[in-house]
Amino acid sequence: MDCIFCKIVAREIPADVVYQDEELMAFRDIQPQAPKHIVIISKTHIISIAQLTEEQQEFIGHLILVARDIAEKEGISNDGYRLTTNCGADAGQLVPHLHFHLLGGRRLSDELA
Ligand code: 5GP
Ligand code: ZN
Repeated sequence: MDCIFCKIVAREIPADVVYQDEELMAFRDIQPQAPKHIVIISKTHIISIAQLTEEQQEFIGHLILVARDIAEKEGISNDGYRLTTNCGADAGQLVPHLHFHLLGGRRLSDELA
C-alpha cells in the first residue's frame, strides 16, 4: 500500500511516536504548525471520516479521549488546544488516511478559516 501513514504504522518510515495502541497511533507532525502538533491516525487504512461506519463509533470516541490524554501529557490542557480533521480536497486533506491534528502551545487564531 503506497500510503505514507500506513508506512509509519508498519514502521517502514520513522516517526516520533508519542502514543499507540491496537487501534491508533500518534506521532509528531513533520511540519509542525504549532509548538505542539501531533497527528493521531487509525492503524487501519480508512481514508477520512467520510468513510466511517456505525461500527467505528466507539473507535472515534476512543480517539478523542486519547487526544485528550495526549494533550494532558504534553502540558497543553490548561491553556487549551484544538483537535481537527480534514476531510477531502476543499479541507486541504493531503494524506488520504484518517488523521486528527492535535494543536497547541500557542494562541490559535484563524486556522479554521
Ligand atoms: P492533512 O493536510 O492531510 O490534514 O495533514 C497531513 C499532515 O501530515 C501534515 O500536517 C503533514 O505535515 C504531516 N505529514 C505528512 N507526511 C508526514 C510524515 O512522513 N511524517 C510526519 N510525522 N508527518 C507527516
Ligand atoms: Zn494508509
